[in-house]
Amino acid sequence: GQCTLWCPTAAITERDDIDKVVKALADKNMHVVVQTAPATRVALGEEFGMAPGTFVEGKQVAALKKLGFDAVFDTNFSADLTIFEEGTELIKRISGQIHEPLPQFTSCCPGWVKFCEYFYPDLLPHMSTCKSPQQMLGALIKTYYAKEKGISPDKIFSVSIMPCTAKKFEAARPEMNSVDKHAKKTELRDVDVILTTRELARLIKSKGIDLNSLQDEKYDSLMGESTSAGLIFGVTGGVMEAAIRSSYFLITKQEPPEALLNLTPIRGLKGCKEAAVDIPGVGTVKVAVVHGLSNARPVLEAVRKKEAPWHFIEFMGCPGGCIGGGGQPRTSLPPSDQVRQARIDSIYNADAHIYAKRKSYENKEVLALYQKFLENPNSHLAHELLHTHYTDRSKLLTVKKDA
Ligand code: SF4
Repeated sequence: GQCTLWCPTAAITERDDIDKVVKALADKNMHVVVQTAPATRVALGEEFGMAPGTFVEGKQVAALKKLGFDAVFDTNFSADLTIFEEGTELIKRISGQIHEPLPQFTSCCPGWVKFCEYFYPDLLPHMSTCKSPQQMLGALIKTYYAKEKGISPDKIFSVSIMPCTAKKFEAARPEMNSVDKHAKKTELRDVDVILTTRELARLIKSKGIDLNSLQDEKYDSLMGESTSAGLIFGVTGGVMEAAIRSSYFLITKQEPPEALLNLTPIRGLKGCKEAAVDIPGVGTVKVAVVHGLSNARPVLEAVRKKEAPWHFIEFMGCPGGCIGGGGQPRTSLPPSDQVRQARIDSIYNADAHIYAKRKSYENKEVLALYQKFLENPNSHLAHELLHTHYTDRSKLLTVKKDA
């Protein structure tokens, strides 16, 4: 995928990261926790001979438990949480409570974030301050979960299963150590190791586990519940659709109309998509969705010229979104739209038919997290653990313009 381009850690061999996880799992003094991204559950099966898009959520959990992880959490949970944090930020920008510019940009794709830091650093104030769902869950595993379980954060080893190679760079960013400050420890990373979907498949196979024969298992509680609004983060347009479902409710205190639950104009593989949504009390909210970084440039140029009509823009580095990430199974080479579409269809099928809840504000474990720990979206503690800042990297560009 394109994200490899932005990943200086690509040189780290896959074997190194698998070894680190194997070592942690064998260490009886470590409590090893894992989270799984929305997009891996519609692709992992391809490594075991299943058709593209086969939904293996429960089998993936079963495989992780068999591998010996002490807790299996869902990045969908923190995607739901992101909606609270990012939606609240958007409402504050629109209402003028904070003086950051519109349109707000999504910040959950590290490939996109780094692209903006290099080529459009003047637009960084548009970037949501929210960390990605992976980094949010990482910070919570070593604070909230550690506290609930009575485990010292330095005895927790935190692993993420991601469709993405750029996530390895993201977790290594110096500022992704909010746990340090909170736990008054040093050298604690919010997430310790990322395994791509392909690396997980290799680990599963190396232990002689056959994914096909596993019975479905469920995520662990505390941070394992999710709604399908969190799940659709895995496809282009999904973050935006999830945000609109919840923003409507957070603003109007009413359930969103059926049409907003299936926002078809921003679904599918077209490079740049748009929608306009009427929210009582706010007016028409205009949104855009962009995937593939080459499609981002014209949109960003329009923002630069102050000609962009949108309030909120979703950017994803990989064509199709995370289902097409650089760490996913290479079921077709080069990656084909047919495989991407099969994975997308599987996610929307689960959204419509498998998940019981479709709106982030229905996630009871997220509500409990606010009640017991964070207090409110964008609270002081939420800012400390779940938000971040960005760096102008344009000076690091080594390409000489006159060369
Ligand atoms: Fe990673 Fe997803 Fe961004 Fe691709 S779209 S770089 S998989 S976060």
